[in-house]
Amino acid sequence: MNRKLKTKIYFTCGPSQLYPTVKKHLKEAMDSDILSISHRSPQFQKIYQSLINNLKKLLNLPEDFHIFFLSSSLESIERIIQNCVAKYSFHFVNGAFSKKFYQAAIDLKKNPQLYEVGGGYGFDLKKVEIPKKTEVICLTHNETSTGVAIPVQFINQLPAQAPSSLIAVDMVSSAPYPSLDYKKIDLAFFSTQKGFGLPAGLSVMLVNEKALNKARFLEKKGFITGSHHRFISLLKKEQIFQTPETPNVLAIYLLNKVCEDMLKKGIKTIRKEIEEKAKLLYNFFDNHRYFKPFVKDPQFRSKTTIVIDVKEKAKEIVSKLASWGFILSLGYGSFKDSQIRISNFPAHSINDVKKLIKSMELL
Ligand SMILES: *Cc1c(COP(=O)(O)O)cnc(C)c1O
Repeated sequence: MNRKLKTKIYFTCGPSQLYPTVKKHLKEAMDSDILSISHRSPQFQKIYQSLINNLKKLLNLPEDFHIFFLSSSLESIERIIQNCVAKYSFHFVNGAFSKKFYQAAIDLKKNPQLYEVGGGYGFDLKKVEIPKKTEVICLTHNETSTGVAIPVQFINQLPAQAPSSLIAVDMVSSAPYPSLDYKKIDLAFFSTQKGFGLPAGLSVMLVNEKALNKARFLEKKGFITGSHHRFISLLKKEQIFQTPETPNVLAIYLLNKVCEDMLKKGIKTIRKEIEEKAKLLYNFFDNHRYFKPFVKDPQFRSKTTIVIDVKEKAKEIVSKLASWGFILSLGYGSFKDSQIRISNFPAHSINDVKKLIKSMELL
């Protein structure tokens, strides 16, 4: 039997499988003048404005949120610390990406505090005291390195714990899946190469008025908040649907198109399908003889990046599946030999996941 797929499917954690409509939109972009238009032109302003409207609808963002473009989510992390923290950020750390957020605060000479648990574990709010002086609480909704997701309910409880702190959420490898309550958070960001099924090279930051006021306050006090990409400079241009620099116009155009497609499909349907596919994958591995999900507690299991313990067989499994056309990620960092990671994004159909499971039955 020939198990090989006609075209590969990328179940990698980002860059990943392209959203099915991207090819068509890319062709339309090539056939029009998108790649040549000025970023000061009305055509570009229309795209930016349309993206703001579509993202606000898709994510159910309150009116006072602004949408900024940055080069990558690591840049978003750095800008949040620069623009919202004089001294004290507080970090929930449970893997490599939440650690990067913490490290950025150290690099920028702040005085960050952290609550750290081991890889594969979630957090217990009863066990943590968030210091009163905390300016921003930083958390990674979906820890891509270990497959742990923070329940939305947990995030919703944070404002009551720390009413004067801003709350910043890295939703890079879960957006647009989580149905966050944006009245309870002040900043969030994601990159296009993960759940939106687009090429890398664009991070989108969602910022509310409270966070902008903090940036204004820090600037008044003489803090360095950056230059072209400081919040206030991004805001000034956003007001006229432009960016300070020459941005990645193609990426912004494609993101707007994919947002339109997702709105047509319906965010509820997208979320339901992700849950259904996650269930298929976790069921398969919960019942597997040798390979088991890394995250034991079901309430912390990520729906969008599924991490499996494969007993040092990661390279063998990943290369076997690749030979059949299924491209998976190895474990992150020190887990590269013992784990595999499978993304479950809107670009993956239920049928794709069923085919992957059928092939994994043969391992
Ligand atoms: C990929 C990832 C990042 C970094 O995104 P870049 O676009 O590469 O800067 C940050 N946080 C999480 C959780 C990620 O998965």
